[in-house]
Amino acid sequence: MAVEKKTKTVKTIKVDLDKCNGCRSCEVICSAFHAAPKYSSNNPARSRIRLVQEPHKDIYLPVLAGEYAPAECAGRVKYADGGKEYDECAFCRAACPSRDLFKEPDSGLFLTCDMCESDPPLEKPLCVQWCLNDALVYEEREEAVEEDLKLDEMEKGVESLVNTYGLQRIADAIARISRKT
Ligand code: SF4
Ligand code: SF4
Repeated sequence: MAVEKKTKTVKTIKVDLDKCNGCRSCEVICSAFHAAPKYSSNNPARSRIRLVQEPHKDIYLPVLAGEYAPAECAGRVKYADGGKEYDECAFCRAACPSRDLFKEPDSGLFLTCDMCESDPPLEKPLCVQWCLNDALVYEEREEAVEEDLKLDEMEKGVESLVNTYGLQRIADAIARISRKT
């Protein structure tokens, strides 16, 4: 079967903890860009990047908002590096029930970094542009999605068989085949 070769662009922001000085410009520009109307206000609580900081320990950790997590973690991890010890939730990117981070302060809606989705597209995400210390570095790479397409195609095929013959008959057939292999 001919497989269509496709790629997708993966966007990444690399964080260099040694370069962040806690200026919080990234929070300011992110919250201003996402204000309605755009740039009408800036409130770090509405930013999709937040600075976890403990100045007396020289800890400045920019964290970008990831996906919402509906439940708290059962276990947590403590990170230590170069004599610095970070809070258990410090590196977590999720909005979750155990903290207010990455929740819109008025509505409680979850905030997710959108890499500054915009029309026309931005040359680079704004937090990266505003970080004068190069603590945030933007990278793009192309990744093959050949396998995803194959799986999509396979799933469609199985779905059509299930629709035609019913789930039980297909499950029985798969069980028979697996006994032979
Ligand atoms: S703009 Fe850069 S240096 Fe300033 S807090 Fe954000 S990541 Fe750190
Ligand atoms: S990439 Fe854009 S949306 Fe994401 S944290 Fe940075 S400024 Fe905010």
